[in-house]
Amino acid sequence: MNDVRAHLTVYGCQMNRLDAELVAERLRRSGARIVADSAAANVLLFLTCSVRAHAEDRLFSNIGALGARKRREPDLVIGVLGCTAQQYGEDLRRKAPLVDVVCGPGRLADLPALLERARRGQPAAALDPRRTPAGAGGFDASDRALDDLELGRPLGGPSPGHAYVTVMRGCDNFCAYCVVPQVRGPERSRPPSVVLAEVCGLGDAGARRVTLLGQAVNKYEAEENGRRWDLADLLAATAEMPGLARLEFITNHPRHVTERLAAVFRDVPAVAPYLHMPAQAGSDAVLARMKRGYTAREYEGRVAMIRQARPDVAVASDFIVGFPGETEADFDATCDMVRRLRFSGAFVFKYSPRPGTYAAAHYEDDVPAREKRRRNQVLLDLVQGIALEDNRALVGKTVPAFVEGPSPHPHLDVDAEEPARGEDFPRGPYGPRRRAEGNSGVVQLRARTPHNRIVVFDGPADLAGCIVPVRIVRASALTLFGERVTAG
Ligand code: SF4
Repeated sequence: MNDVRAHLTVYGCQMNRLDAELVAERLRRSGARIVADSAAANVLLFLTCSVRAHAEDRLFSNIGALGARKRREPDLVIGVLGCTAQQYGEDLRRKAPLVDVVCGPGRLADLPALLERARRGQPAAALDPRRTPAGAGGFDASDRALDDLELGRPLGGPSPGHAYVTVMRGCDNFCAYCVVPQVRGPERSRPPSVVLAEVCGLGDAGARRVTLLGQAVNKYEAEENGRRWDLADLLAATAEMPGLARLEFITNHPRHVTERLAAVFRDVPAVAPYLHMPAQAGSDAVLARMKRGYTAREYEGRVAMIRQARPDVAVASDFIVGFPGETEADFDATCDMVRRLRFSGAFVFKYSPRPGTYAAAHYEDDVPAREKRRRNQVLLDLVQGIALEDNRALVGKTVPAFVEGPSPHPHLDVDAEEPARGEDFPRGPYGPRRRAEGNSGVVQLRARTPHNRIVVFDGPADLAGCIVPVRIVRASALTLFGERVTAG
């Protein structure tokens, strides 16, 4: 595949970004090149999340817009990978006839063979078995292939010095609105020895920040050599990696937050004081319809447990507004929860029915679109108002900032994780941007505080991957603005 120049566009969560790394690794091993400029590519790959309709809509509209290019370049291969591919399966080509390759998230290792076939003019697909109520099997071979890619990949994560590591695949929670249990299969925890070997390899390659990933990462449980492991054990063992400065784990299900996990925030210094734990709603009636398995009071109890162990932990959430049957009183309960718990941030999504989910099959999507938009804006304003107050309280303080690289949007307030925006992989088009003053070698850098707040400041681009002290001079709801503190 020496003549393959592949470009990847990623929509969605950290899982999809890690999948992009695995795709790049698989293609490189087979001789292909990964290019940052889509115009220079002869293979266009889209890795897409199917959790929200918005990301999927963007995917299909972007593929539709490639019609003229495909006519000009008949050898151009277009592939859809990840959750959306798995969900639609072979039907995807009916919806988007320009697509040549369809590849589920468990079958990324098969990609070179699929591309070869597509380049011979034959559409190609590789998908995991459909999940049946009876069980889970059929994922062992694809898990082994994914492990092989994960273990052998170079450090090329979300930013220099930062690595994602899968600790669990799949999900068994079956929240009413979510397709993940269908498209990523049943829960499988990777053995601790495999996770720790991967972490050590990434540490040797220069990782200083590690994020452990799972759809409900705090449900991690494994047994090896007669010892049972939960996430608290795994975090404590991972924290032993030499040189590790920051350890994070996402995403957490409230039902599985335990005293042992809370204690990790207090007892393991490398663990960042940040917990992403989606509440989704503050109304018990809505939570029950969502099949989340907890009440608002229980959720608040988990937050209290964490904050008792370490009071400064920043808790971030996700919310869905306009879920079927959500009344104004339900929505008010969500707003009240946000006021009480003062989340450090939250993604707010308007409900959209996803094919194959319980909610799509059993509930009427009865909150009008306009009302969903209104609730979305009200909740966002509330979340951002609180974030602004908390960020302003940091002005004048100095924080250790993990530098991710040049800021993708210099001088703007950024919400860099807007999930429906396609990201190029690797992030070539952003490149380092110089300040208007022409200050040689100095760019606006983006970094993360230990509480996962975005901070931007000016400095040399080669600080990417380092932790530097930054004094906060100004704050907006989404961004802190700072100055690097240098000795002397
Ligand atoms: S916990 Fe619920 S929302 Fe999260 S991936 Fe599993 S089913 Fe989806």
